[in-house]
Amino acid sequence: MTAQNMDELVALCKRRGFLYQSSELYGGLQGAYDFGPLGVELKNNLKAAWWSAMVHERDDIEGLDASILTHPAVLRYSGHEATFTDPLVDCRDCKKRSRADHIVDGKCPFCGSTSLTEPRPFNLMFKTTIGPVEDGAEFAYLRPETAQAIFTNFKNVVDSTSRQLPFGIAQVGKAFRNEITPRSFIFRVREFEQMELEFFVEPGRDEQWHHEWVQRRLDWWREQGVSSNHLSRYDVPEDERAHYSKATVDIMYQFPHGVEELEGVANRTDFDLGSHTKQQAELNIQAQVEANTDSTAKLAVQDRTTNQWIVPFVIEPSAGVERGVLAVLNDAYTNEVLEDGKSRIVLRLKPHLAPIKAAVIPLKRNHEGLVEKAQSVRIKLQRLGIGRIFFENSGNIGKSYRKHDEVGTPFCITVDFDTLDSDTVTIRDRDSMSQIRLACDELPAYLIDELQSKSSI
Ligand code: ATP
Repeated sequence: MTAQNMDELVALCKRRGFLYQSSELYGGLQGAYDFGPLGVELKNNLKAAWWSAMVHERDDIEGLDASILTHPAVLRYSGHEATFTDPLVDCRDCKKRSRADHIVDGKCPFCGSTSLTEPRPFNLMFKTTIGPVEDGAEFAYLRPETAQAIFTNFKNVVDSTSRQLPFGIAQVGKAFRNEITPRSFIFRVREFEQMELEFFVEPGRDEQWHHEWVQRRLDWWREQGVSSNHLSRYDVPEDERAHYSKATVDIMYQFPHGVEELEGVANRTDFDLGSHTKQQAELNIQAQVEANTDSTAKLAVQDRTTNQWIVPFVIEPSAGVERGVLAVLNDAYTNEVLEDGKSRIVLRLKPHLAPIKAAVIPLKRNHEGLVEKAQSVRIKLQRLGIGRIFFENSGNIGKSYRKHDEVGTPFCITVDFDTLDSDTVTIRDRDSMSQIRLACDELPAYLIDELQSKSSI
């Protein structure tokens, strides 16, 4: 089960506080969204799951968190200044702009006019001025991908960790693209986050590693609760590939608006390290002549046995956080008809992604004894370090269950009058809606076990 259309998801996200249009108060900023109280938890959980799988659970990947502001030379020599463009077409009638590859049957997607200009390249990078003088002389780019800082820090990481091939550098962070037509909720936005790994391998082993990473990434998405039926792979043909790519496999997802890219897994060869090394060599020639040395900053690894310098090839799985959030929300969204003929919306999120792990609900709102007990249960569970435990003081159990089903809370714990006598609580399971009674002492172990077993596939 998934949402029937994007509007259902958008409505749920707004109603329950997952996502809001950015600057809504002033009419909205197109192509930008803000994550609300539950959205930020879900997004952080997804990023944490990626970091755990890519960095902590492996012993061949290091992490990085580099600056967003990027020196123009980096993006000049990476090829982005010249080629990071989309073909732009203007409609002579309604004056709106579209991406040429999104035009169907030669018609403007806004007004249907066929009076369109010839496509011209439009660079997607955002620029900003540096320092107090606004004459544009000193500027930086907002990075259009997190990858470049991994390449420019390659030597730093190798020198400080003594890594040998194969090894990777992972990074999660913001990227900015001045998309011509942001659309489909958070699918295509101008400010988003990427989860990127650059995995450096010996040339010649690149194709095997490329295959390996495509499989691993597909498995990871399944572990996040994305159904295999909604995932597919697309071998990107040469004329659609980025300038640096020898081969790209896009992991496609059946979004509510259609099948589109969720993650790209590219074989970037030695394009980036090679290009930055070449530029370094040229920039350093004068310095070397003066210092009588040939110690150019080689973005390469020295093989310990042969002493040979190798410029590695790199395999890059690059996933968008927003597209990931949209996919897991869509796959979790279920509109369920119950036995009594009523229906409920339930987000069947994997517990490790759920924004709230458990809600503690006193049976009566503002009843001193119940509230005090519920708070003490909540604090005890919160201190387990398993994520957010929510104190739900609505006084209406049915309404609380409905709310927590809708936001994907795996467990609701009710503190009632029996709790005050017997120190037991009821626990309701989100998916089966079944309830059991449990001693408060047993609650922490039960919750840890259940959350863990339900998170694994
Ligand atoms: P598309 O063809 O959809 O524009 P792309 O091929 O340019 O995407 P990549 O450069 O491969 O995208 O970026 C890697 C990932 O970053 C994408 O798979 C996607 O998840 C995410 N991403 C890229 N552009 C955007 C965007 N404008 N909004 C949200 N996520 C994006």
